[in-house]
Amino acid sequence: MKLDVEVLRYLSKDDFRVLTTVEMGMRNHEIVPAELISLIASLKHGDTYKILKNLLKHKLVHHDSSKYDGFRLTYLGYDFLAIRTLVNRGVIAYVGLQIGVGKESDIFEVATEDGTVLAMKLHRLGRTSFRAVKSKRDYLRHRSSFSWLYLSRLAALKEFAFMKALEDHGFPVPKAVDCNRHCVIMSLVQGYSLVQVRELQNPEVVFETVVGLIVRLAEHGLIHCDFNEFNIMIDDDEKVTMIDFPHMVSVSHRNAQMFFDRDVECIYKFFAKRYNLSFQDDADDKNSAESDIDEAGRPSFSSISKSSGCLDKELAASGFTRKDQDNMKKV
Ligand code: ADP
Ligand code: MG
Repeated sequence: MKLDVEVLRYLSKDDFRVLTTVEMGMRNHEIVPAELISLIASLKHGDTYKILKNLLKHKLVHHDSSKYDGFRLTYLGYDFLAIRTLVNRGVIAYVGLQIGVGKESDIFEVATEDGTVLAMKLHRLGRTSFRAVKSKRDYLRHRSSFSWLYLSRLAALKEFAFMKALEDHGFPVPKAVDCNRHCVIMSLVQGYSLVQVRELQNPEVVFETVVGLIVRLAEHGLIHCDFNEFNIMIDDDEKVTMIDFPHMVSVSHRNAQMFFDRDVECIYKFFAKRYNLSFQDDADDKNSAESDIDEAGRPSFSSISKSSGCLDKELAASGFTRKDQDNMKKV
């Protein structure tokens, strides 16, 4: 599915009215009856149909007549609703090229009216990700399209809230600009994902910085849970920025230790393989009295002091609530 924003220009107010109506209808119906759409949109029956046909042509809605004549929103339709809201709010004025494809998102360059370039992340939960399908196959089968949109919206809200909180605490993250539906607007990070970088000037320094971030996150009460070479950006000066926060959990999560160790392991493995860092030697050199380092030289979860960690509470205040978190877990 391609995000062709040209189409946005040609959509009328009534087109959006009907699209919004389909979105509203999806709160109670997986497939929104056509009758209901024309009723809520308070347009003439024939007009609603004409508009739905147009929306269908542009793949903003999906037609389903298996049980009754009805429509549901597609991800593209949801994209358009979010983009239009952000344009109306004056947050963005242009949508540019796609700059990233994640496991569960698409990233685009966007620009403000004054030409500042930003990044737009559109969350796409439910898009077939091998890992997710493998571990959550049964759930996936029973997910309605509404819940995918809903979960994508929660993922965006969570990402936005975490990005803001992390920035406030001095973490190197993109600046969170705004959020609507499943869409997050943030500053554009210069540079590349670490996975694209064959060589580093100072691999040891970058490695220390990155591992230091995992430790500092834990000290603040958080675990990234997807901390790997895809989610670490690096610029020409080898300055690190971390991205991608929808999976973060609290250090009080019952699997916290496992998630923490997995993040650490990912980084150790990647730096050993890609930049030939060897850690056994490091471990021998290490002063064994260092408390947050285990025998193998790796940060140890149990000995990290989590005293500065009350980010969980702050996050609850930022619009992403405990209830949202619980709902997301049900995926
Ligand atoms: P996913 O959750 O789907 O993995 P990510 O947030 O990791 O999504 O983004 C996917 C890719 O898009 C990243 O690996 C990166 O290359 C690019 N990207 C994401 N956010 C930004 C940003 N703020 N600036 C520049 N590139 C970005
Ligand atoms: Mg990612």
